[in-house]
Amino acid sequence: MSEKKDFQVSCPQCRTKFSYYSCKFRPFCSERCKMIDLGLWLTESYALPSRERLEEEDFEQIQKTLEDREEGENF
Ligand SMILES: [Zn+2]
Repeated sequence: MSEKKDFQVSCPQCRTKFSYYSCKFRPFCSERCKMIDLGLWLTESYALPSRERLEEEDFEQIQKTLEDREEGENF
């Protein structure tokens, strides 16, 4: 049996856990969340500083984890 990579991450938008490698809308779980996020940016609904900071930290953590996992891998 071949083992497929299954790296679970949390969607920055809805917090749903999903498999990073099988999602083309990453770092979001779905196109919907991606569009919601873009929409929020465009309408400046991201005005709450605490929330913005949290999202940023989450994203950085995800990125850092992914960089570790993808080391030496041709993405
Ligand atoms: Zn989502």
